Amino acid sequence: MSSQTEPRVLIGQQEIAARINQLSLEIRETYQDQNPLLVGILKGSFVFMADLVRVLAIPLEVEFIRLSSYGQRTESSGKVKVVQGLRSPVKGRDVLIVEDIIDSGLTVTYLLDYLRKKKPASLRLCTLTDKPARHQVPVKIDYLGFTVPDKFLVGYGLDWDEKYRYLPDICVLEDDE
Ligand code: 5GP
Ligand code: MG
Repeated sequence: MSSQTEPRVLIGQQEIAARINQLSLEIRETYQDQNPLLVGILKGSFVFMADLVRVLAIPLEVEFIRLSSYGQRTESSGKVKVVQGLRSPVKGRDVLIVEDIIDSGLTVTYLLDYLRKKKPASLRLCTLTDKPARHQVPVKIDYLGFTVPDKFLVGYGLDWDEKYRYLPDICVLEDDE
């Protein structure tokens, strides 16, 4: 990607907020009295997590897990590992993974297996965006914000080489010719 690359808005902040409101109705329905444990995948999910928990407005707990990332690369190597684990016990909890984007599906597949071994009472997946065209493995998504095209996205927590996370909209990074 060249240095002339400029982010272009794909999904604006109002549309994101409206969709998260709708998602929260579905999620609240399931978890109302369960004190769920929301597990965000760092770093990309932190903005989504913050907005989601505020509109959910039910008793819940928040944890974050850090998995090995792409670094400066825009393609997954397929090798995932836990860089920073969870502090709360998962056994017997109703766990909801909160992810920013699913691309190959390898990261969440790894995390689902990792958490399943810890014997949660239930385990579901919520992702703000999904790129179905890129899946290398089948992924069952319980709560999905937006289906997105096969483009590299930044903003709303998503970075490219640590840049652009602060942008309020979900943007496409592309060359401005
Ligand atoms: P997967 O393992 O599904 O290929 O990749 C998932 C992870 O790759 C996401 O959690 C995210 O960190 C990163 N990723 C995938 N696609 C994009 C993208 O378009 N933009 C950014 N910034 N990160 C992405
Ligand atoms: Mg991520």
